Amino acid sequence: MTIAANQAKTSVSVGFIEKRPLQLYVAPEKPSLVGISRPALAEALGRAGVPERQRRMRVQQIWHWLYVRGAKSFDEMTTLSKELRVCLADHFTLARPEIAAEQISVDGTRKWLIRLPGELDGRSHEVECVYIPEADRGTLCISSQVGCTLNCTFCHTGTQRLVRNLTAGEIAGQVVLARDRLSDWRNEAAAGNEPEKRLVSNIVMMGMGEPLYNFEAVRDGLGVVADGDGLSISKRRITLSTSGVVPNIARAGAEIGAMLAVSLHAVTDELRNQLVPLNRKYPIAELLTACRNYPGLSNARRVTFEYVMLKGINDSLADARALVRLIKGIPAKINLIPFNPWPGSKYECSDWAQIEKFSEIVFDAGYASPVRTPRGRDILAACGQLKSASEKLSARERLALRAMALTD
Ligand code: SAH
Ligand code: SF4
Repeated sequence: MTIAANQAKTSVSVGFIEKRPLQLYVAPEKPSLVGISRPALAEALGRAGVPERQRRMRVQQIWHWLYVRGAKSFDEMTTLSKELRVCLADHFTLARPEIAAEQISVDGTRKWLIRLPGELDGRSHEVECVYIPEADRGTLCISSQVGCTLNCTFCHTGTQRLVRNLTAGEIAGQVVLARDRLSDWRNEAAAGNEPEKRLVSNIVMMGMGEPLYNFEAVRDGLGVVADGDGLSISKRRITLSTSGVVPNIARAGAEIGAMLAVSLHAVTDELRNQLVPLNRKYPIAELLTACRNYPGLSNARRVTFEYVMLKGINDSLADARALVRLIKGIPAKINLIPFNPWPGSKYECSDWAQIEKFSEIVFDAGYASPVRTPRGRDILAACGQLKSASEKLSARERLALRAMALTD
């Protein structure tokens, strides 16, 4: 299809300014090939006229350019004929999600505000993606939805309505974008020698949104991320965090195969109903059964239980003892997350002394219980602080939050 025809099809005119149509939303003129699955790529090539018998090989070649070499233009794909490169450029782009803003924390954490194509309301959508460098790894925290349908009472994202699901391309696109930004593509000169150390070595799906309520896109996007001939981040280094969408946990085990993290946060249904309202639908007992049955669990492959430390709410030593009783028999580790405040939040973070005592009980029961060091608090990049998209904080709210983060 020509660009002109495409534009005619996708421009939506909903009003007039000085007799000129007001274009509230113009979809990309040409679709991007970045982040789509192999079958979707083969189908796209078919639409561009690539004969069926060639498609497999072309997919393999393009895949290598996109995900090993980080190609940003078809011109770079020198193993394809000039004619094919021109044809591809006529039909597609290699556009990544657009970075609207970048912030770098004093601790090296980077947060990217990513702008995604908008909807008919004319507003573009934004999600956040956070890179956390550590001594032995570099973790990229990616988003699955703009906003969230769930309303966990301690989570900033939960105060924002669900605006839309991300596509598979936008999910894998966050990894591509991080590799671009960090110059983290394969260095041809070094290739073939020692295995390269990549800056982005681990992925956590712990950004905005509930990944198991955007199942297919998350599955396909993570499939691209884990593909061994491409981005090649093994499934053991990809962790998917869910607030407890029980029916999709087994499905995630079968179809995605990433490491599982579960946002538990409470040991009784009464309290969890308040903190994670989804618990009313899928109570703790059902959630833990789904965890027990998660495929491939072993001491080397454990479920992570996330537990946000809320002062006077869920942080008593009796809670710690109940927690270890509750998860008995499940190969697990417990990730204690100091609560990150946000403007209007009604909770306080537990005192450090209390977090340590809590952690000791868990540790003594035989579970690794790392306390997640808050990273990037000065740029509002820590867990549960992410909120952007169509609803932005006012400058005053941001200042208040920054002050809070820096003083505790
Ligand atoms: N929706 C998914 C994944 C995104 S949230 C989930 O709920 O698991 C990633 C983690 O951050 C979850 O464990 C969540 O409970 C936690 N979190 C949310 N708000 C937080 C806050 N204000 N302080 C600390 N952790 C928070
Ligand atoms: Fe959504 Fe997770 Fe936040 Fe709950 S904690 S509101 S599920 S993003």
